[in-house]
Amino acid sequence: MRMLNEITIHGSVTDPDWMAGRPLAEKVAEIRRWHLNRGFNDIGYHFVVDRDGEVAAGRAVERLGAGVAGQNTGKIHICLLGGRGGVGDDVFETHYTADQDTALRNLIDDLQDDHGAMAVRGHNDHAATACPQFDVAAWLSEFETARITAPVPEDPFDAPRWLRRIIALFTGGRA
Ligand SMILES: [Zn+2]
Repeated sequence: MRMLNEITIHGSVTDPDWMAGRPLAEKVAEIRRWHLNRGFNDIGYHFVVDRDGEVAAGRAVERLGAGVAGQNTGKIHICLLGGRGGVGDDVFETHYTADQDTALRNLIDDLQDDHGAMAVRGHNDHAATACPQFDVAAWLSEFETARITAPVPEDPFDAPRWLRRIIALFTGGRA
């Protein structure tokens, strides 16, 4: 396995309804065709995330991808379908769906579980491009904030367990 240290996010720069209703495999095949036309030997991305959150594998993770000219070492490239007309500091929701948001966060978690901690950046963090048409660092900080502020079970007051049990008897178990 090659050494991995970054997940790099891209957009396909397609309209929201691009190839709507067609199987994701056909969309992946189409992007592969674009990349073959550009002289790549396969689709450049390792994963493609459809508008409905479905994820398809592109190039095998073991293989060096093609997403950032001259800087593909250590990177796993993920492409979100959409993003046409965007600029580099747009917000995620402007171009991508809530299903893509969830799918991308889950995919990042799965990849970190499988391959260890990796930085998560956008194509636009490496090159003069709008791709992936949003600010990945800002999106990521929401991600971390959500994790940090996620369920922290807290006692409403600091009472010993026996006292809380007695109070629960009188409050229907809410103490
Ligand atoms: Zn890109």
